[in-house]
Amino acid sequence: GEGAAATESEGVTVKLANIGSRILVFVRVRPLSKKEKEAGSRSCVRIVNQKEVYLTEFANENDYLRLKRLRGRHFTFDASFPDSSSQHEVYSTSTSELVEAVLQGRNGSVFCYGATGAGKTFTMLGTAENPGVMVLAIKDLFYKVRQRSCDGNHVVHLSYLEVYNETVRDLLSPGRPLVLREDKQGIMAAGLTQYRAYSTDEVMVLLQQGNRNRTTEPTRANETSSRSHAILQVMVEYRVKDESNNVVNRVGKLSLIDLAGSERALATDQRTLRSLEGANINRSLLALSSCINALVEGKKHVPYRNSKLTQLLKDSLGGACNTVMIANISPSNLSFGETQNTLHWADRAKEIRTKAYEANEETTQIPNSETDQAKLLLELQKDN
Ligand code: ADP
Ligand code: MG
Repeated sequence: GEGAAATESEGVTVKLANIGSRILVFVRVRPLSKKEKEAGSRSCVRIVNQKEVYLTEFANENDYLRLKRLRGRHFTFDASFPDSSSQHEVYSTSTSELVEAVLQGRNGSVFCYGATGAGKTFTMLGTAENPGVMVLAIKDLFYKVRQRSCDGNHVVHLSYLEVYNETVRDLLSPGRPLVLREDKQGIMAAGLTQYRAYSTDEVMVLLQQGNRNRTTEPTRANETSSRSHAILQVMVEYRVKDESNNVVNRVGKLSLIDLAGSERALATDQRTLRSLEGANINRSLLALSSCINALVEGKKHVPYRNSKLTQLLKDSLGGACNTVMIANISPSNLSFGETQNTLHWADRAKEIRTKAYEANEETTQIPNSETDQAKLLLELQKDN
């Protein structure tokens, strides 16, 4: 069948038991690009085994053997994907278990984190020839739904939205910005399109169209802005009978997130603080790092309300949710600093225990001036 390949596990098998108690963290190294090769760059990343990555400023084999104890650092993740890994391998190792969980009425989320050009969109959306996690997840979902029922019991809806410059937009129906509202089920964007999906074939086209609706840099009209976060939400609704034979509705939600480039989040120069746009993108990614820090430290108060992104991700980070982070990195020594930064945050995210933190939410201050942004930035640099 159509989805059979997607369910085949080729890499490390991650047990469902691990999911739900902590964030699972994966790293994916992309191949050196033509441009990087032409610039004479070397690889500074080595995938040691299925879980370990080694990052060093000295990248050839001899340097590795000679200097590994002196310079460089090993990181261990739930899996480390080398540049030769396929989209299917990444999907089946990182996300297929979450699709299974969503079909049981649970929530799951996967986010790609990393610098611009590191491979986030390739991993999430992919290309027509090489579809990524978003498409493979939906394909697998339809396959599993068909295995379970042919009676239309499962209804699948898709929403695709963008957070850019602290503004939320509907990527399936571009128009006015959406307002976030909080109700019993959590945060939702009022008026967001919920597209009823019937088959995989329509979805790739839909998502590519949606991706073209993402905000682009005014100066580089064909390139998606590195400051845009894209969130695909897949809702699966179905009816089951409970113990007393009553029919109940269950909804599982899978969120697949292509984050903005992380390089600006911790930029140390003044330029970042000067422009409003820069400050706002910082707000979302800085807020994400603050939430990660608060969750790692088991703090009672997690500052979700500091940005649109963290409000939308609240139930994906601290709630009863299965969360996966894929850290995307370039192997090039020219991106050494960014890679180091990405691996630092990925390493930290491993410590997050996903439990119900929501009861502890307090009223919080939303930084609304550049001074507050600057303070937040300094705080983070201390932690780093
Ligand atoms: P990001 O979204 O993180 O800014 P992209 O996903 O757009 O980065 O990747 C940058 C470039 O590298 C694109 O041309 C993309 O096709 C290519 N690329 C990224 N990851 C891979 C990969 N695993 N294999 C082959 N090409 C890749
Ligand atoms: Mg991208």
